[in-house]
Amino acid sequence: MSDLLEEALAYAREHRDAFVQELCEYLTIPSVSAQPEHERDVKMAALWVVEHLRQRGLSAELLTTEGAPLVYAEWKSSHTHAPTVLIYGHYDVQPAEPLELWHTPPFEPSLRGGYIVARGADDNKGQHFAHIKALECLLCTTGALPINVKVLLEGEEEIGSTHLSRFVREHPELLKCDCVLISDSAMRSLQQPTIIYGLRGLLDLDITVRALEHDVHSGHYGGNVQNPIMALAQLLAEAKDREGRVLIPGFYDGVRALDAAERAQLARCAWGEAEIKKETGALQAFGEPEFTPVERRGIRPTFEVNGMWGGYTGPGIKTIIPAEAHAKVTCRLVPYQEPAHVGAAIRRFFEQRCPPGVTLEMRIGPGSPPTLLPLDNHAMRAAVQAATATFGAEPLFELEGGSIPVVHEFAHTLQKPVVLMGFGLPEDNIHAPNERFALASFEKGIEASVRFMIQLSATS
Ligand SMILES: [Zn+2]
Repeated sequence: MSDLLEEALAYAREHRDAFVQELCEYLTIPSVSAQPEHERDVKMAALWVVEHLRQRGLSAELLTTEGAPLVYAEWKSSHTHAPTVLIYGHYDVQPAEPLELWHTPPFEPSLRGGYIVARGADDNKGQHFAHIKALECLLCTTGALPINVKVLLEGEEEIGSTHLSRFVREHPELLKCDCVLISDSAMRSLQQPTIIYGLRGLLDLDITVRALEHDVHSGHYGGNVQNPIMALAQLLAEAKDREGRVLIPGFYDGVRALDAAERAQLARCAWGEAEIKKETGALQAFGEPEFTPVERRGIRPTFEVNGMWGGYTGPGIKTIIPAEAHAKVTCRLVPYQEPAHVGAAIRRFFEQRCPPGVTLEMRIGPGSPPTLLPLDNHAMRAAVQAATATFGAEPLFELEGGSIPVVHEFAHTLQKPVVLMGFGLPEDNIHAPNERFALASFEKGIEASVRFMIQLSATS
């Protein structure tokens, strides 16, 4: 082990308790971006972390955007050829409600059973704080970092990163780097590090079907006018077959086929019917039969009705034919589908099938594209080496079913490798009551980050 690594890891062990205390202090700030009453707290969290970074020797500042401020910090190496890593994270958190389900108050961090329990402990304060502590371990032992570091933390991730994509597009010079490192995901377990190499994109649409000027008497008019709820249900039912395949022509355009090697690699992930049933209470797994659950989550797009409403839903009976009906639909998109192309295919499909007697109105959002991250680059190799040495096992490579739009923006605008190496665990209750972060995740996260930076400096 190199002296640098040895010293940095020794520093981490010696300051273990202090690091946990500092994270707890960060977690007391209720930086809930979704709730206007916490606007000040969001800013407080940003100021807190800026001050923290400054005290560790980085130049840090708040950058104002139209929304929550961005935290930007950097450290420049004296070595002219040192590579630059951009570390991204978010200091905002999800709302804590429902409060009554928390065993301890969400913004009073408590240490229980090897976990730090608090809103934001895993998602994402604990995870990016591990990187900040790794920087400290290197800076406080050697007085220097082996690479150039830029840190970018946003305060609007939990509300859709409203302003970040534009910021990235408008500041490519500021964010110029050789790779981006993001820890905002989970590992399979503490013995099984996991690197995400693909994310699904998203497309959202609202559908309204109108049949009448106002609700009417179902006795006077029943049998003589369209029922918009029925018309909408029939339209939606035509979009998918009974086994879960989407029947909209053009929907699957661009979807990539897996080769045998990638299929075998994905099959290493032990996530299937049993896990789905346990995690969700589903009676059975359901989806395109020609794919495994891991494949359906990673490489297959979806068409899901998120909500549908109309007419009377109160107590008793109300004998009406409703005037209109509504549905919200979101599609998860996979490489190399294009949101606009999918949106147009869906619009065409429903417009062609719109039954007589109703009008159809569709609002289709711009969507966010899917991302597939290349694995063959120096940053990914450094991450594999760091994760393997830290956790004692080679990382699994997984395709994530969710979306992190800014990852696409980083990969696309900066044209550099992005590494998604998360330190959370599946049972961390993110976005739910009693969110937590294992102390071991925090410690190992710091170690993996230290190793990554040293490895990156050695191989670049
Ligand atoms: Zn989150």
